[in-house]
Amino acid sequence: MVAATSGFDVAVIGAGIVGCAIARRFAIDGARVVILERGHDVLDGASKGNSAILHTGFDAPAGSLELDCIRAGHAEYLQIHQRMNLPLDRAGALVLAWDEEQQTALPALMAQARANGVTDIQPMERADLLQAEPHLAPEIRAGFRVPGEALIDPWSAAHAYLYQAIAHGAELRCRAEVTSARRLADRWDLHSGAGQVQAGLVVNAAGLWGDHVQRLLTGESWFQIRPRKGQFVVFDKPAAALARHILLPVPTAVTKGVVVCRTVYGNLLVGPTAEEQDDPDCATLVPETLDALRQTGIRILPALAGQEITAAYAGLRPATDEKGYRIRADLSQGLVTVGGIRSTGLSAALGIASHVAALAGGQSARQPQHWPQMPVLAEGGARDWRAPGNQGLVCHCEKVSRREIEAALTAPAPANSLGGLKRRTRVTMGRCQGFYCSAELARMTEGRFTQPLTGGGGDAG
Ligand SMILES: Cc1cc2nc3c(=O)[nH]c(=O)nc-3n(C[C@H](O)[C@H](O)[C@H](O)COP(=O)(O)OP(=O)(O)OC[C@H]3O[C@@H](n4cnc5c(N)ncnc54)[C@H](O)[C@@H]3O)c2cc1C
Repeated sequence: MVAATSGFDVAVIGAGIVGCAIARRFAIDGARVVILERGHDVLDGASKGNSAILHTGFDAPAGSLELDCIRAGHAEYLQIHQRMNLPLDRAGALVLAWDEEQQTALPALMAQARANGVTDIQPMERADLLQAEPHLAPEIRAGFRVPGEALIDPWSAAHAYLYQAIAHGAELRCRAEVTSARRLADRWDLHSGAGQVQAGLVVNAAGLWGDHVQRLLTGESWFQIRPRKGQFVVFDKPAAALARHILLPVPTAVTKGVVVCRTVYGNLLVGPTAEEQDDPDCATLVPETLDALRQTGIRILPALAGQEITAAYAGLRPATDEKGYRIRADLSQGLVTVGGIRSTGLSAALGIASHVAALAGGQSARQPQHWPQMPVLAEGGARDWRAPGNQGLVCHCEKVSRREIEAALTAPAPANSLGGLKRRTRVTMGRCQGFYCSAELARMTEGRFTQPLTGGGGDAG
């Protein structure tokens, strides 16, 4: 490990799921860590809008670093999730072939899964599929089951990693965009919106801005981010009963395709699209695309035609000009770059963190001493609204209590914006999208957000 004599040992640039996991790993391993995040709150980039699937890596490129990181990340999540109250819905996935071409692709995909170490897959005939998923469209031809694919909460996972990092001494600075950097003899001197920081090792985990930060640090970037937008529609809670598994299409070379699955919060989502764009800041929703997604959902599960849509959202994948992760260490420069964590970063984050610690010369051997307890947000879990002393409900649609909101506002990394509060509590994310609770929320958060609350639900978080 690169240790600094003054300042911090490690500065992590970017508090997405990947930066939070890396900060956790280094802090547990005993380093003095600072996390610099340009947003008002954490998880404001790629990590705010994904499908929330904990992948097994069955379809990852064979022999790739991505596969190693997904498998290690998946395994570590299973190991630690109960200690921190993190949800795990072991739904399993069905990979579905709807035409002859897709059906022809199944044997090779199953062989790839086995070669990738995912050996518990089960081939399924049409009749097996319709028995396993009674609402599936009858045109289904064949498929296979991947039992290890699971659903998690993408936000409480990242918050848990961050809180655990903080409990082990890490410092988080938000509104801390790194705007310039100078390499001194044995350390970095970083200038950010939240002051100057010196650190022995810098980890560039800036996601959608990874190439920009790389240029800022070294004058050039060996990869280019090509943001790939994914839009989703979210169906209301009754729709969740229509899908027992995560319903996956046969993936293509470019995308995993449109998924239908429930969420741990009890909704059902359909998405994402895969749309190339230049702007890393712009995840706009397009009504025609959302309508097409709804139609795709109905083609897979015809009963969706009678279900209401609660919300829509979009996320941006930090894809690059190549398919693989762009992780590279230059310890003579005190720099590890973690770029291009495309469409599997939620699953791989803990694995990426161990890989980065190893690249930096660490052991990754220490066990955590502190285990933050995350609030239970999963549908059917021991939610606070059922517990005594919760001070009543503020958000009736998502059953968010006053006590939960207060806890999010005083957490180790307190919510700083409505987006941050939504991701910590799910407030305003239900049927009314904040119509009924925004006024009360504005009162409760007055003077506490760096980005004051101005109105209704809005951003999907
Ligand atoms: C539509 C979609 C579906 C997906 N589905 C899944 C899935 O089901 N399962 C799965 O495993 N993965 C999934 N992913 C992928 C996963 O969401 C990403 O791989 C992951 O979020 C990338 O995280 P990150 O930390 O690398 O980047 P980010 O979340 O973008 O974090 C980078 C952070 O760096 C900050 N930053 C940028 N520049 C600076 C600077 N100069 N100074 C300080 N801070 C800076 C940003 O504000 C940001 O918060 C999906 C992604 C999308 C978009």
